[in-house]
Amino acid sequence: NPAINLSLRLIPYSENLWLLVARDVSRLLHLEQMRRDFVANVSHELRTPLTVVHGYLDMLDPAEHPDWAPMLAEMQRQSQRMTQLVEDLLMLSRLESTDTLPAEETVAMSSMLSTLRREALALGQNRHEVSVEDSAGVDLWGSNKELHSAFSNLVGNAVRYTPAGGTIRIAFRREGAGAVLEVVDSGYGIPAAHLPRITERFYRVSTSRSRESGGTGLGLSIVKHVLNLHQARLDIASEVGRGSTFSCHFSAERLRRRDHIEQTA
Ligand code: ADP
Repeated sequence: NPAINLSLRLIPYSENLWLLVARDVSRLLHLEQMRRDFVANVSHELRTPLTVVHGYLDMLDPAEHPDWAPMLAEMQRQSQRMTQLVEDLLMLSRLESTDTLPAEETVAMSSMLSTLRREALALGQNRHEVSVEDSAGVDLWGSNKELHSAFSNLVGNAVRYTPAGGTIRIAFRREGAGAVLEVVDSGYGIPAAHLPRITERFYRVSTSRSRESGGTGLGLSIVKHVLNLHQARLDIASEVGRGSTFSCHFSAERLRRRDHIEQTA
């Protein structure tokens, strides 16, 4: 029956006997699809009301209502957070429901790195030292939008989990026949026990610190999915109190010669 999905496992039984265990996972896959559709639909439906709330909040001038100023600021902050959460949920649903990239193009890495540096400085309000190394001399082949969102999540985390005065280094260099994009921070670090689960949806090391930092808990899941779509691997090395290194490893097939003039604004 083509409508049945089977999961097959071969288990050694004795010296020359193997057991083939077949499990019908059709219902599991169906439920997983329902979960994805539900999340995508709810996120989509939340978009319009949020835009309206956000729009009206923007029209309220705190100068006209000085008593309300702190409440207005908090409402704005929370509605912005909710908007980000909805956007991240939509992006994750989209990434989960495909195994191909929407479009492939040259990803100009020199301007990508400048953009990431600008974003890091803006997000951290210039309170970190941000350096960029661009020694790979090649570009990537993939989706600009998706890769930007993955790298920007890593850089955003580096800023949010590094106290003011700390350093953040974004490096793109060759590694064997491939290339690696590394985001290194001198921040709080991640305890080893948490590393295996850190890329799961909504998984957080310290809920209070992460909430305060303004993240949605979906960043690293998005990074993982985007890298998978580019057949790239994410490595995480971290030491509590010293900082973390997130490395995205790209194979030679994803590299393109950098032979055009880039605009570095
Ligand atoms: P969040 O929105 O909570 O930052 P992420 O999926 O991006 O969600 O990250 C998951 C968790 O991993 C974070 O809540 C934080 O505990 C931890 N984390 C991610 N990046 C870093 C980092 N650079 N330094 C320390 N902890 C990090």
